[in-house]
Amino acid sequence: MSASESNPEKKVSRSAQLFEEAKRYIPGGVNSPVRAFRGVGGNPLFFQGGEGAWLIDEDNNRYIDYVGAWGPLILGHKHPAVIKALQEQLTHGLGYGASTEAEITIARTICDLVPSIERVRLVTSGTEATMSAIRVARGFTRRDKIVKFEGCYHGHVDGLLVKAGSGALTLGEPDSLGVPKAYTDLTYVLPYNDVDALEKLFATRGHEIACIIVEPVAGNMNCVPPIPGYLQALRDVCTQYGSVLIFDEVMSGFRVALGGAQAVYGVTPDLTTLGKVIGGGLPVGAFGGRREIMEMIAPMGPVYQAGTLAGSPLAVAAGMAMLTEIQKPDFYKQLSQRASALMAGLQDRADAAKIPFSTNQVGGMFGCFFTHEQQVTTFDQVMACDVPRFRKYFHSMLNNGVYLAPSAFEAGFVSAAHGDKEIQLTLDAAEKAFATL
Ligand SMILES: *Cc1c(COP(=O)(O)O)cnc(C)c1O
Repeated sequence: MSASESNPEKKVSRSAQLFEEAKRYIPGGVNSPVRAFRGVGGNPLFFQGGEGAWLIDEDNNRYIDYVGAWGPLILGHKHPAVIKALQEQLTHGLGYGASTEAEITIARTICDLVPSIERVRLVTSGTEATMSAIRVARGFTRRDKIVKFEGCYHGHVDGLLVKAGSGALTLGEPDSLGVPKAYTDLTYVLPYNDVDALEKLFATRGHEIACIIVEPVAGNMNCVPPIPGYLQALRDVCTQYGSVLIFDEVMSGFRVALGGAQAVYGVTPDLTTLGKVIGGGLPVGAFGGRREIMEMIAPMGPVYQAGTLAGSPLAVAAGMAMLTEIQKPDFYKQLSQRASALMAGLQDRADAAKIPFSTNQVGGMFGCFFTHEQQVTTFDQVMACDVPRFRKYFHSMLNNGVYLAPSAFEAGFVSAAHGDKEIQLTLDAAEKAFATL
């Protein structure tokens, strides 16, 4: 019998106490909304640390972590190489507001690993990267309209917090109070993985469109890879109409493969945005691409973009340590094998329990769906999944020591620290969870 079972008055966890206290000072108790567990109910956990594939909460419970700080921790928590690089940089200071040699090293590494990137600039978040990439695309094309896709998320940029209007050819509507209608009047929202809708819009409006921004593997509506030929169709319309193709690889970059989704699918964007993995766990973003486009930005050109902490020596040190580790032979092969073993194991157990279930996976990124669909490829299919069943599954997994993203609409991440033991423990937990659904 555990301590809480023997106690007639159920003990309030330290996480629950901290959440109550946090709400007195922080809106909703959190610094980013999905952390609040609104998507699954219950109290969010507060963590005191992480170790490899594991998270430790404030009540000393241990969980196998499939959130990985929402993507960056591809090596797991507290990887020695990253910690060592940070400790070494700490002895030299935190930043100078001026250039360092390490910025050249990381820029060269990014350009080498992602050949479509000829010039790259560092920023401090993914949101900044997408905002800046759109600005430079508009400056380069001297056009104002942009295209995004339903279910793709690119940070909390005003003009991208847009939901679809009433028809395929209508402009978007604000998806957040505080976003002026005038901003969203510049954004077309199309269904993801729908070539017809894309070609129809470009046939009538192509010459007004500055850029398409897309997650080449969508990871913010759970995980939805592109259907065959889809990314090439985006490339083709952009080439035909002189629009800039932006792959938002903030999540997929260095996550699905060493060269990102563009390497997996063999399609070359004009601009790429990066974040998450390239910061090694510190706040970093980047945008880069064709030289003639990137040279539009200040100080070379008339498109303004700047950042006080951009290229922070600490973030660059952590990022470079990360980029060094992931270049080791077979890193992505092993990461992908682990993720696919996990997906296959979950599918087997769901099938055995007769739970309608399907999975998607690209490299170290995955998605699980409570659905009758064989394969989920559209936003509408994602929205039609059984969310109440996901909630039960989430809490059962949590009780059995597995920390999943607290929302049915987030991708999951496997790290290099997830070994056979962690995968097996996760599958054992899932077998118990499926039995209760
Ligand atoms: C996380 C994410 C962003 C936003 O990055 P932040 O660092 O949270 O601002 C942008 N695009 C994609 C695809 C993301 O997954």
